[in-house]
Amino acid sequence: MKLICKMCNLDLSKQVIELEDLNLLNKTDGQDLISEGFYIVVDDDNDYFTPRDKGAIIINIKDLINSNYHSDEGRLNGCCGYDGCDGMNRVCLCGHEIGTERSDCWISHFIALNPVSVQFV
Ligand SMILES: [Zn+2]
Repeated sequence: MKLICKMCNLDLSKQVIELEDLNLLNKTDGQDLISEGFYIVVDDDNDYFTPRDKGAIIINIKDLINSNYHSDEGRLNGCCGYDGCDGMNRVCLCGHEIGTERSDCWISHFIALNPVSVQFV
């Protein structure tokens, strides 16, 4: 499986498979939450993620391709990285908002792709 932008069909991820065992998530601050090559979909009873990430598709930052940072600098706040607290901060190469990178020192690192913007193929 890979993810594409629903609006322009551009590939947005490398090949990923679903991580079945959520105990394998690494919730250590400053480290990758999920290994490369895997994804999870955040379900409603997962308390680790903020309400805004419900339904999001979580992948490793290194699995995201064809993406830039948002042109609105107000979306790009963070201490050492990007905290993702101000709305989607990642766009596809055509400029469509696709999801949120969380890569700051006080959180575990991942990309939360918006299910409205992306789809599996
Ligand atoms: Zn796009």
